[in-house]
Amino acid sequence: MVYKAEYLWLDGTTPSARLRSKTKVIADGELPPVWGFDGSSTQQASGDNSDVVLNPVLTVPDPIRGGNNVIVMTETLLTDMTPHPTNTRAACAAASNKFASLDTWFGIEQEYTFFQGSSPLGWPSNGYPAPQGDYYCGVGADVIFGRDIVEEHMDACIAAGLHIAGINAEVMPGQWEFQIGPINTPQVADELWIARWLLSRIAEDFDVTVSLDAKPVQGDWNGAGAHTNFSTNQMRENYEACVAAAEALGTNAAEHIANYGAGIEQRLTGKHETASYKDFSYGVSDRGASIRIPWQVARDQKGYIEDRRPNANVDPYVSTRLIIETVCGAIKK
Ligand code: ADP
Ligand code: MN
Ligand code: MN
Ligand code: MN
Repeated sequence: MVYKAEYLWLDGTTPSARLRSKTKVIADGELPPVWGFDGSSTQQASGDNSDVVLNPVLTVPDPIRGGNNVIVMTETLLTDMTPHPTNTRAACAAASNKFASLDTWFGIEQEYTFFQGSSPLGWPSNGYPAPQGDYYCGVGADVIFGRDIVEEHMDACIAAGLHIAGINAEVMPGQWEFQIGPINTPQVADELWIARWLLSRIAEDFDVTVSLDAKPVQGDWNGAGAHTNFSTNQMRENYEACVAAAEALGTNAAEHIANYGAGIEQRLTGKHETASYKDFSYGVSDRGASIRIPWQVARDQKGYIEDRRPNANVDPYVSTRLIIETVCGAIKK
């Protein structure tokens, strides 16, 4: 017999890479091999030299097809087996390896917005719903839109063995969140990309699309972020190490902002539970700061910090790499 392997990869779309996938039918008993695709159709190659290599990095059960079918997260390589210029995973893995002695963990909160046609799911086709206030973690058909998709997605993530930590309805109607982690990187980013793919794939069956746009509706509506919670083994034991990590992030704020996702200036305005992209701040329980130290962490005098700046459309290979380089680089100096 045979099984189906759905190979996922990140394309060359700018400013935010998109997920692509295709299926390989594989004989039972064989592992998913190195494969390839036409990079001239994904902004990753020219037509006269079009082959791009797909190198498997994480294989999980396919909860949509079931049976012994699998989903294969891959990284893209050139035909000489070096990383493709659009491969952001290789540098992420290198940073994680370099500081392996600090055992870095990440938990990423992925916010997103369902759309039906050109409006967020549940929005009137003309005009606006009632202002924000009753939607976050709400219940009832007047405030909740798309729960059936969200539940199916959570079950799919669990069946795929992803480290999904929870879900919640968000502040803007049609907006939701799921969390992946805490686990090390690049695995957290591999899993987040798989979870993003599952979400869009499941929403397909409902004729709904998933937007990772950082500010899907202009005006007095919350944007969508990917708060990135981070710890080292030192931070998990010692509060001073948590404060030192927040301080370290302040030394390299501009580079982080420039790489935390397209349209970040529209989202990090200083309103809607954000700090301005022009400022850097940290504080205990402060959802208006760039970096929040959760109150339990201050109470327990150990734990992790939350970088609230990354956009929903961030590439988690890039954000986790930068946090490791900035924080762990400062420790090791
Ligand atoms: P909030 O919405 O209050 O900001 P969430 O509960 O959505 O917080 O997300 C917090 C995330 O922090 C969890 O999903 C988890 O993955 C992550 N986390 C918990 N402990 C650690 C840790 N020691 N290191 C890194 N991340 C952690
Ligand atoms: Mn959250
Ligand atoms: Mn949230
Ligand atoms: Mn958060």
